[in-house]
Amino acid sequence: MNPAVAEVAWRGADRAGPPAYDVDRVRADFPILSREVRGKPLTFLDSGASAQKPRAVIDAVSAVYEREYANIHRGVHYLSARATELHDEAREKVRAYLNAAETREIVFTRNATEAINLVASSFAARRLREGDEILLTELEHHANIVPWQLAAERAGAAVRAAPVDDDGLVDLEAFEAMLTPRTRMVAFTHISNVLGVVTPAREMTRLAREKGIPVLIDGAQSAVHLDVDVRDLGCDFFAFTGHKLYGPSGIGVLYGKAEHLEAMPPYQGGGDMIEYVTFEKTTFAAPPERFEAGTPNISGAIGLGAAIDYVNALGRDAVAAHERDLLRYATARLSDAPGVRLFGARGEKAGIVSFLQDDVHPHDVGTILDRDGIAVRVGHHCAQPLMDRFGISGTVRASIGLYNTREEIDRLVDSLHHVKEIFG
Ligand SMILES: *Cc1c(COP(=O)(O)O)cnc(C)c1O
Repeated sequence: MNPAVAEVAWRGADRAGPPAYDVDRVRADFPILSREVRGKPLTFLDSGASAQKPRAVIDAVSAVYEREYANIHRGVHYLSARATELHDEAREKVRAYLNAAETREIVFTRNATEAINLVASSFAARRLREGDEILLTELEHHANIVPWQLAAERAGAAVRAAPVDDDGLVDLEAFEAMLTPRTRMVAFTHISNVLGVVTPAREMTRLAREKGIPVLIDGAQSAVHLDVDVRDLGCDFFAFTGHKLYGPSGIGVLYGKAEHLEAMPPYQGGGDMIEYVTFEKTTFAAPPERFEAGTPNISGAIGLGAAIDYVNALGRDAVAAHERDLLRYATARLSDAPGVRLFGARGEKAGIVSFLQDDVHPHDVGTILDRDGIAVRVGHHCAQPLMDRFGISGTVRASIGLYNTREEIDRLVDSLHHVKEIFG
């Protein structure tokens, strides 16, 4: 799709050496980026919370409603068949994006949170007995903590967290030591949404799988910044969310190994997930439909497919290289900014820088940046246990998307000088 994007975003792709990534061309694909905020050009450094949408995604969603919309599956008529086809194509795009073996391993959910809840209730909860353990890490987003706590509580099981060091790097030895005969499930993030630290997901998965323990990877950030291959990772489940990958909100994905999904009971009951219903007994559809009760987010799935096409057309390697450059630049510039203390700046990282400035409250920093048209996220970033680990209540987080530029990082640093002037 959109070959024009691929064509224009690559300058000199046919010449030797790495092609230049034309970020101005990329920015022109995102209508919202040309608007002003508080009389200043918008500097959007909050893609880690939700990314902006390219025209290709906005158009794909409108096109469904303007020309090809009807409910899927149940219809015999033309539009229903066409919408079903588009929805199926989107599932195939997600499968290819994650390099999953089969489309029946791709379940559409509302978001990453729902994908994790689905596994916690339909898979983990049934295996838990009193005294069992679920192993997480200290890095986790609340979405990868609370569902496990709910499942554990019902069974009298416990949730444990493998420690991270002062840079937010997972202590692999401690992690391995915490994989005990009581451990029934392992779940961890692939990239910390607070620090941008990339966990050694492949190695952690291998350690758990060696002991027969199933693994869920929270890929809400990694599906955006890394070239994810679920078969190479070896995980049993992988969750991500469409809105952070330049797609619509309200659509997420659970990848699950076919053998698990086949054996799992439904998460919710309703239409579209059944094979046959009588008042005495209902038999369930095969995966993935078994886990997709009710009318799904049809346009959302199609929009997510368009987002994947868009990223693929730019080239996932080219996007990653651009983001790596920006992250290095931001880290270097922020290290020199007045009073700035970075968190998690060592080790393999992607897309995110977190910091505090002197004793200024993150909300005050964020408010002053906002006056300069700069959008960052401040607070605990839905990761309060990690804040506790660092003994702080929150940070300022700048997160990088494929459309950000070095000039925007410069604007951020300039604005931090304003903060310094105001707060001394
Ligand atoms: C954003 C995020 C989530 C939750 O995503 P939702 O779309 O809100 O479900 C989970 N984990 C991480 C690491 C995230 O960054």
